[in-house]
Amino acid sequence: MIRIAGLGISGLYLYWRLKNDGFDVSGYDIKKDDFYIPCGYATNENIMKGYMDVIGVDFQKYVLSRAKNITFSGNNFQEKHLESSGLCTFDKNQLEKDESNNLKILPIDKQNKDMIVDATGITRAYLGKSKNDRQYYTLEYLTDQSDHRDFYFYFFKGGRGYFWSFPLGNKYHVGAGSLSIADLNTVRKSIPLKITSRNIRMVPLFDSMSRENIIGIGEAIGTVSPITGEGIIPSLRSAELLFQCIKKYDKEELLNAYTKAISKEFGYYYKLSRLIFNIRSGKIINPTNIYAIKYVKRTVNDFGIKLDILPFLKHFI
Ligand SMILES: Cc1cc2nc3c(=O)[nH]c(=O)nc-3n(C[C@H](O)[C@H](O)[C@H](O)COP(=O)(O)OP(=O)(O)OC[C@H]3O[C@@H](n4cnc5c(N)ncnc54)[C@H](O)[C@@H]3O)c2cc1C
Repeated sequence: MIRIAGLGISGLYLYWRLKNDGFDVSGYDIKKDDFYIPCGYATNENIMKGYMDVIGVDFQKYVLSRAKNITFSGNNFQEKHLESSGLCTFDKNQLEKDESNNLKILPIDKQNKDMIVDATGITRAYLGKSKNDRQYYTLEYLTDQSDHRDFYFYFFKGGRGYFWSFPLGNKYHVGAGSLSIADLNTVRKSIPLKITSRNIRMVPLFDSMSRENIIGIGEAIGTVSPITGEGIIPSLRSAELLFQCIKKYDKEELLNAYTKAISKEFGYYYKLSRLIFNIRSGKIINPTNIYAIKYVKRTVNDFGIKLDILPFLKHFI
């Protein structure tokens, strides 16, 4: 049996991929039924739809708002309006709730030698802590008032993170993610209907994504864009890669194959992570950063935003 710990977006996806393919699989999560998930709920509809189709979910049913005019703003660049290439918000709580029906739920027994998939996100409850971890603080309000009708990003100085306001039908998510806890005060100007907070992992941890019979997917292994904080689709992608490897390889070859697949797909996250680190250390003009520019464009485009790279770069310089 394959035991999945953590039934967030990636754990649920892997569960249904394995189950629908005839594998013996169980899942387990610690969250309460009414838990409100801390996340902006923004994603690229065009890519997300493809993943959801595969597990029989009609994604469009969950879409709350679609971006038309996206604003990028920052401490030292003029507001820039960008086009969408699929950016939307969706009802993540409802989608995950619906996907959690009729699962085989079994607590994780660490003594058991079955394969355990750690999909517990930020907590890495089974893989354990990593010395290379880098987490940003976050604070997010669900609110019915915002200064911004459409999708809005304000980047803090020196690559520290950003403030966002995303529409959700007739409500908004207003939030901030930053290395500096003081930046979270930007959110406190809004009046909350709900308040959520948890750290977000902003660094790939592909050198510590397995231990004994445990193998990780999703935010647990750092499949979160170090630039945009987008973690939903990258985590689904990691789950799909593990699924393909489980199907194709036996126990001995599986880890090696999965490690290679993750490095191939997400290796550029190390370059983005290095770029942010360099910006924070004031090392702006250097060849590594210039080489990483094309990956900045790629990761922003993947999120569903058509990016003209130059104004964005000026902000950091
Ligand atoms: C404030 C904030 C805003 C964000 N906004 C966006 C956004 O707009 N778009 C985007 O793409 N990404 C966003 N992200 C990132 C994204 O939410 C995550 O990267 C993504 O959900 C990761 O999916 P996952 O399945 O790996 O982990 P999660 O979705 O975090 O799921 C982990 C699951 O594990 C469970 N769990 C934890 N510990 C245990 C345990 N001991 N045993 C069993 N279960 C356990 C949890 O209850 C949870 O259900 C945001 C993150 C934050 C914090």
